[in-house]
Amino acid sequence: MKIPKDHPRADSLRVRELIIEGMHSNIVAEAGLIAHGRGEAFDYLIGEKTPSFALEQEEAAVASLLLADNPVISVNGNVAALCPREIIELAEETNSKLEVNLFYRSEKRMKALEKVLRDNGAEKIYGLDPNYQTEIKELSHLRRIIDKRGIFSADVVMVPLEDGDRTMALRKLNKTVISIDLNPLSRTSLWSNITIVNNVIRAIPEMIKIAQEMKKEDSRKLQEIINNFENFNSLHTSLTFMSKRLKNFDAEKLKRFKDSK
Ligand code: ATP
Repeated sequence: MKIPKDHPRADSLRVRELIIEGMHSNIVAEAGLIAHGRGEAFDYLIGEKTPSFALEQEEAAVASLLLADNPVISVNGNVAALCPREIIELAEETNSKLEVNLFYRSEKRMKALEKVLRDNGAEKIYGLDPNYQTEIKELSHLRRIIDKRGIFSADVVMVPLEDGDRTMALRKLNKTVISIDLNPLSRTSLWSNITIVNNVIRAIPEMIKIAQEMKKEDSRKLQEIINNFENFNSLHTSLTFMSKRLKNFDAEKLKRFKDSK
């Protein structure tokens, strides 16, 4: 669908188009559309731009990836549809492995994800070769299948758009989990070591820039950033920001709207 440039919600509609196209090319699962809708609602609450707390979360996440021995970035359908090139670039900048991991796993979708990642320049992709598959025993759904060389042996796993069960399972396997989730109340957000409450569309490019700068820093400085980060405090800041915005929105925007009619 062609989106008129002057449409007041053109950016959001363009992102929706990426998700819809992704579904038609088997990259995005049908449920991915619904998950995206939930994300949009929370994005509205943070003003559809990156708040300062999200930048701090992104810094802690990048520091953690850069200091890891075996960092892995897990890729699902929505991420592959929304920012395929950027997720590859982030993996390169942080020396992380890329692993395809799908909740609604089928041969057709695995192939579609491999294609979009290869078309965008990915060389090594984990999670595809059945010879290296193993399982997270605690999980019953297909997301339990992981790569021995990837998530299985990782110390830090970044899971943009994850479901809560797997985040919990990864924590129980002693992994440091970084998630990107616009909903600070989801089980994923609560169980992660570092939750980035921001839209992946903005968070990933911002993390690339942060990584490029942070790589020049001393590892002690990066460790300090991680030590100063506490996820529950950070989630609390995110929630307070949203609720304050809602309150102000209520008073100011409704009045402005009423006066303009
Ligand atoms: P949980 O199992 O962690 O409680 P959930 O069941 O609420 O999560 P899922 O459907 O597994 O949610 O995943 C969707 C999550 O991803 C939602 O919390 C939603 O806010 C978030 N989300 C969707 N799109 C984006 C996006 N573009 N950027 C960041 N977060 C997003």
